[in-house]
Amino acid sequence: SLGQNVIVIVPGANLLLNFEDLRRASDVICKAKVVVCQLEINPAVSLEALKMAHASQVKTLFNPAPALADLDPQFYTHSDVFCCNETEAEILTGIPVGNLEDAGKVGHMLLERGCKLVVVTLGAEGCMMISVEEPIPKHVPAGKVRAVDTTGAGDSFVGALAFYLAYYPKLPMEEMIRKSNCIASVSVQASGTQSSYPYRKDLPQDLF
Ligand code: ADP
Repeated sequence: SLGQNVIVIVPGANLLLNFEDLRRASDVICKAKVVVCQLEINPAVSLEALKMAHASQVKTLFNPAPALADLDPQFYTHSDVFCCNETEAEILTGIPVGNLEDAGKVGHMLLERGCKLVVVTLGAEGCMMISVEEPIPKHVPAGKVRAVDTTGAGDSFVGALAFYLAYYPKLPMEEMIRKSNCIASVSVQASGTQSSYPYRKDLPQDLF
């Protein structure tokens, strides 16, 4: 139905990325402001990248996509920010996310696995955030827009959040998430995935 995606993944070159490649990139990883990992490459390689970043006090943002039911628990303990959508949250916790209350509940469960902050993205509803510092789930709504194609919304959100963590590290987390919702909501108003991502010049300048 409208707004429901079916995504086919052809991993190809992604699965060729290996530990040797990581070792060669270690200087970049350990000097970065933020490192983003997900599961489209070999999960063991992704985990190693998170560990390398974490050990160098680099902020880590992890997006468990595509979701794995038996995710290595170390992914949680090495994530400063663990950001998943409703489907991923259900696969990881076994709890379907049908409303805001469920989102708070799964957020809490994921937080208890050892990350510092969990963000569950909720499509048109925006996100639910919960953190070690603020363990009461907080809903951060997205603006009302006319969605034409939501593919890539999650990646747009994660990319925007990585941008704020890197360039505006002092911004309150809720504000980073509100701004990331805003950027992701722009991406759902155009068709395609990468082609739907806005350029900075085309975004409201109060986002920066
Ligand atoms: P995924 O693309 O991984 O399924 P979501 O559907 O949860 O992720 O969307 C990620 C983010 O994109 C949401 O948190 C929200 O900021 C934005 N978004 C997605 N769909 C809409 C929509 N219909 N209206 C406004 N914002 C949306």
